[in-house]
Amino acid sequence: MSLGIPENRYELVSGLEIHVQLNTNTKIFSADSASFGALPNQNISTVSLALPGALPKLNKEVVAKAIRIGLALNCTINQVNHFDRKNYFYADLPKGYQITQDNQPICINGYLEVELSNGSKKKIGINRIHLEEDAGKSIHDQDDHYSLVDLNRAGVPLIEIVTEPDIRSAEEASALLSEIRKLVRHLNVSDGNMEEGSLRCDANISIRENGTTAFGTRCEVKNLNSMRNVRRAMEFEFGRQVEVVSNGGTIIQSTLNFDADKGTTSPMRTKEEANDYRYFSDPDLQPIHISDEWLSEIKSAMPALPNEISRQLIAEFGISKADATLFAEDLDLLNYFHQALPIVNIKKTLINWLIGPIRAVLSERGIAIADYKVQPDQLAMAINLVEDKKLTQQIAIQQLLPAIEETGETNVAVLAQQLNLLITENSNELDGFIDEVLNKYPQQVEAYKKGKKGVLGLFVGDVMKLAKGKADAKKLNELILEKLK
Ligand code: ADP
Ligand code: MG
Repeated sequence: MSLGIPENRYELVSGLEIHVQLNTNTKIFSADSASFGALPNQNISTVSLALPGALPKLNKEVVAKAIRIGLALNCTINQVNHFDRKNYFYADLPKGYQITQDNQPICINGYLEVELSNGSKKKIGINRIHLEEDAGKSIHDQDDHYSLVDLNRAGVPLIEIVTEPDIRSAEEASALLSEIRKLVRHLNVSDGNMEEGSLRCDANISIRENGTTAFGTRCEVKNLNSMRNVRRAMEFEFGRQVEVVSNGGTIIQSTLNFDADKGTTSPMRTKEEANDYRYFSDPDLQPIHISDEWLSEIKSAMPALPNEISRQLIAEFGISKADATLFAEDLDLLNYFHQALPIVNIKKTLINWLIGPIRAVLSERGIAIADYKVQPDQLAMAINLVEDKKLTQQIAIQQLLPAIEETGETNVAVLAQQLNLLITENSNELDGFIDEVLNKYPQQVEAYKKGKKGVLGLFVGDVMKLAKGKADAKKLNELILEKLK
């Protein structure tokens, strides 16, 4: 800070409200499609339009997904919870209220531990997760005289994850967000796409003098839609509040916008201007009762979480943390790995292949493992051929795997044989190649015999060329040494 304010005099205090759009097929209270990208007002029926008499009917899948993320965030599941009406008027909210959860949310009292860049861990409390519906969208820039309303998004299911004010830096906030994005994707709860608005957050920010415990007055920065903007907004708002307080001013509780172009926050409304939402429980919807049976069903169907998976991989295969994370965060890769695993003879080699040459092939083509035509069992068989010294790794990668992609041949060994890729086991043939090469280089053979051992590489290289790479390098070395004796 360049204002003569001593560094570290104040600390940042923040809690996030994170909106996650769930990836269900249909909306939370109707059978309308919840998909993104349809033509305006294509995915609407009486409920989305709020026609008189239309009644909401809860989508059970929404509840299941909220429970899954709640469990991953170490929450207590409120087995009896209910919906409330949050009343306000807006053109893209035809009912005049949003259905949400107020004082009985579906999940409470959780936490998430995140890892920071210096390797330390930070536990951030989760106050609650509640269910709600999204509103429609007003479009102001397509017509000179009118605003347009698209209700496709009205009724798309959201969860709001509210953290405790445990966050002390922009880094902690973005670590938390990226961990949550990872989890919602892993659990197939949301696509977690911040650019498309499936994951967005409001940041509540206050400051206090270091060493003090009372919280300061907070301001809420609305609708941050990228990891970068969360960091920028927090850093700016922290600086702004420090400046106000340092100049003897007081912070007024308010709601702020973040201007991504300028990197600044500006007031939307203060607490005095805030809405009174007149919450009351929605009489059209019954309370949600989550039975013990259903809850334990959901629990037992939960996949292992990414951190758990990467811990296991590190322990079992001794790979690096970065490599383990690669598998833990890519479910397709992990599935591929697990499908190939029972077929390979040496488990560790499979990991090495996937981290090394296969990853290189995929990134060269810019495709994901799901688009790779070599099936896990086919790759496993190719790896086994290499391990058994029947095929060199280079030929496997450059010739056999592409041939598998092309032909789809399931008997990989037969394919390698048909294409004449297997290592020449015919010693007579190799013998012939070695003689040919040694005859070609009489002077070098002489030099070798006088102690210039470096020329061996030349012989090996040339024999390998004649063998079209289909020779085991170690064995070839031995054979040549034998001849040179
Ligand atoms: P309200 O119900 O009035 O919106 P909440 O207690 O639900 O208030 O808090 C909303 C969010 O604001 C939570 O994420 C919480 O962690 C955060 N928060 C509360 N007090 C502060 C504070 N003094 N400074 C920063 N964040 C705060
Ligand atoms: Mg709140």
